[in-house]
Amino acid sequence: MNRKKIKTTHVCTKCTASINPMVKKQGLFFIEVAVWILSLLIIPQTAGTSIFIAVGYSAFRLLSKKIICPKCKSTAIVFNDSDIAKKIIQERNELRSYGISSSDKN
Ligand SMILES: [Zn+2]
Repeated sequence: MNRKKIKTTHVCTKCTASINPMVKKQGLFFIEVAVWILSLLIIPQTAGTSIFIAVGYSAFRLLSKKIICPKCKSTAIVFNDSDIAKKIIQERNELRSYGISSSDKN
């Protein structure tokens, strides 16, 4: 048997899958770019204060970024190290061992 195991870092508490989370940012990239271009263009008129609008928007996007489950899009995901994750993994392994017992092993 040569099954390749992909290393996962998180467990989803909703669908109980071992996953590598997806990063989801709030807001849109092209809006961020547009805000930056606009604020840079109006810098002379606003004596430099317009840059804070752009910085603020970028900060908002960075701070509001979420990690989600790629399978069910839930934000209820936990690190493999956490107690909840360990419990889920253990329960899943128990279920799997029941399944294996039905198939014959040489
Ligand atoms: Zn999930």
